[in-house]
Amino acid sequence: MDRAERNGGFVTRADLSFMSLPSGESRRVIDASRGIWNPRDMDATLSVVSSPTGPYADREVEGGLFHYSYRAGSVNGDNAKLRRAYELGVPIILLRKVQDGIFVPHAPVYVVADLQDRREFLLALDENARFLASEFEATPQRSYVERLVRQRLHQADFRGRVIAAYETRCAVCRLRHGQLLDAAHITPDNAEEGLPYVSNGLSLCKIHHAAFDSDLLGISPQYEIQIAHRLLDEVDGPMLRHGLQEMHGAKLTVPSRKTDKPDRDRLAERFSKFLLHSS
Ligand SMILES: [Zn+2]
Repeated sequence: MDRAERNGGFVTRADLSFMSLPSGESRRVIDASRGIWNPRDMDATLSVVSSPTGPYADREVEGGLFHYSYRAGSVNGDNAKLRRAYELGVPIILLRKVQDGIFVPHAPVYVVADLQDRREFLLALDENARFLASEFEATPQRSYVERLVRQRLHQADFRGRVIAAYETRCAVCRLRHGQLLDAAHITPDNAEEGLPYVSNGLSLCKIHHAAFDSDLLGISPQYEIQIAHRLLDEVDGPMLRHGLQEMHGAKLTVPSRKTDKPDRDRLAERFSKFLLHSS
């Protein structure tokens, strides 16, 4: 999880193939080719991979629990060690594949039910969600937890995708510290409605994120950075001068993949709001 923080919310397949543990040893935490990693020297599964493919309203997090399908074939086989994680109550790692070779990790995750007739396990994404397994009826509390779980997955996926697309860099100042980077929304999106598109995001350091959200910094649809007039006239220390004023007129650093570039229509909408407030 430290590794993910340093990257800005994601890990690469290379990170996962050789991860140093607090004990000093290092170990692989993802299977080389399959979606479930059952190390030979462990009784239970260490990690499982899931790929978000559809909208969040799907049954993936029905009832506040994550539905993880059995591996094809026997109900035992690879599934046996995941069942063992359930029996032992030991946590596993859930790796959300957000793009090729890029994963957003969630840990600790608990296997809280084994539904053999549906060929799936139910996973609780934190300690608090574990109680949901024993209570199947719809309660207000349950739908509240379900909404939280969806939101959390959505936000984590969005951050991982956006910051990975910007190669762990602030789009304004190119700062390269994942711990200091956020995935900012250009226009608000609805977590219930769809996938977290990178084109509605910007990888921004904390200060530029806050400046963007408060219309002290605007980004034109031509990817030009603008600083609010009232800030340009001020005299103050180095953060104002180098961090903000000198960015005025600079070009935004954007991802190389066309589909990941910031959406110009969304920027235009946001930029007109900036212009209203910038004088
Ligand atoms: Zn920045």
